[in-house]
Amino acid sequence: MSAVPRPGRLSTPATAEYWRAAADGHLLIQRCLHCGHKQLYPRTLCTRCWSAELGWQETVGTGSVRTFTVIEVPGHPAWREEAPYLIALVELDEGPCLLAGVLGSDPYRVAVGQRVRFVADSGGDPAGPLPFFARDEP
Ligand SMILES: [Zn+2]
Repeated sequence: MSAVPRPGRLSTPATAEYWRAAADGHLLIQRCLHCGHKQLYPRTLCTRCWSAELGWQETVGTGSVRTFTVIEVPGHPAWREEAPYLIALVELDEGPCLLAGVLGSDPYRVAVGQRVRFVADSGGDPAGPLPFFARDEP
């Protein structure tokens, strides 16, 4: 782990449940109790109908890579030792997308459409795990 601490999570009334579940190894999405729309990241209003009546739904934790990039020069020094690493926009099987790191041995071996699954991984961070994905490698 880097000697530079990672930036802290932004926990707000809208995100606290999301972060608590992620720390326990569960990936939640929000579901509008008015129109049924599913969304992620957590917000205070439904992005479809603007209702403030939102609930939580646990995902199965699987999805597909919609797009990706390999970070060779991190924007924060806490991740310098981990570069190069893979970041992907993952479309969850429930529909919403999540931008997250993808764990694996070779960050350059990825393709659009590749199947991934959610993992909570701290990487030695004392603040606890963050949402990542792992590739279903052949
Ligand atoms: Zn709605």
